[in-house]
Amino acid sequence: MRYIDLRSDTVTVPTPEMYEAMATAKVGDDVYGDDPTVRELEEYSAELLGKEAALFVPSGTFGNQLALFTHCERGDEVILGEDCHIVAYEVGAAAVIAGVQLRTLPTVKGEMDPAAVEARIRAENIHYPRTGLICLENAYSNGRVVSLEYMKSIFEIAQKHSIPVHLDGARIFNAAISLGVEAKELARYADSVMFCLSKGLCAPIGSILAGTRDFIAVARKKRKLMGGGMRQVGVLAAPGLVALKKMIPYLAEDHKNAELLGAELAKIPGIKVFSEDIQINMVFCDISATGYDPELLVRKLYERGIKVNAAENGLMRFVTNYWVSRDDIYYVAGCIREILAS
Ligand SMILES: *Cc1c(COP(=O)(O)O)cnc(C)c1O
Repeated sequence: MRYIDLRSDTVTVPTPEMYEAMATAKVGDDVYGDDPTVRELEEYSAELLGKEAALFVPSGTFGNQLALFTHCERGDEVILGEDCHIVAYEVGAAAVIAGVQLRTLPTVKGEMDPAAVEARIRAENIHYPRTGLICLENAYSNGRVVSLEYMKSIFEIAQKHSIPVHLDGARIFNAAISLGVEAKELARYADSVMFCLSKGLCAPIGSILAGTRDFIAVARKKRKLMGGGMRQVGVLAAPGLVALKKMIPYLAEDHKNAELLGAELAKIPGIKVFSEDIQINMVFCDISATGYDPELLVRKLYERGIKVNAAENGLMRFVTNYWVSRDDIYYVAGCIREILAS
């Protein structure tokens, strides 16, 4: 049975062209720098972001944590939003791998107050840790896109104090489409950038960490330390290249489908859709006013061939992706209407 899977864009499977690219990829031992497909992916990625160099890593978490590990010394402090992925969803890795202390700030729709960020940058004092890094995230894993002006203001503060900025850009291409600019325009406000090939772009695995040539040289060695030196990994870089060369425009379709789903759900009595928050491929809604048990809704949808996640903090999240069509959206909205009315 075919399922319509709205749990995440990480559920996307490779396209036929990706399978073909995997089967025919030229490979070599990448730890020796011998894999031409990985080299091509890294060069293409660096170019796309306007950075000097890039590195292929197994996952987004790996790329973010490698960035912290490369920018910082043990005991350094990292300033970042309290709801960002590095804090919320990376298993506390910053304490384990880089050995850094996370100094979190509240955010309003993903944005920290720039003055509060500057106020937390440490002066020299025998008691104080060193501020080693400031992290930004765009798009946020809660679907929010932050503005270029905001990114610029944080980057300028960081530069003034000679502190690097890392951008968690797992969904940087979604953010760029939402802002109507090239991904480069976001990347210029960060010293290092991580993005995922394995989410809406449909590659089966992999993320990229990009930055200066010197930064990437150190990161390459630390990737080895973390057990991320991979061998004939061109078979996985090949679908990554297809992802970057062919799949980025389709993200705009995902965004339109999310808007459509939001609009259809908003017509159903009792469902509150956070319409103004639909900036990428995610729709958040609150169904509590329907009085319907969200767990039961999840099960009933599953019976109709639709996979959705359980509510988190009272909110349901639906994520559109390449394998979810416009017709699927109408089908899903129709099923939800029917189930709630029954
Ligand atoms: C998904 C995601 C990551 C981590 O990616 P994984 O490949 O799942 O480890 C990091 N940051 C953000 C914002 C994400 O959405």
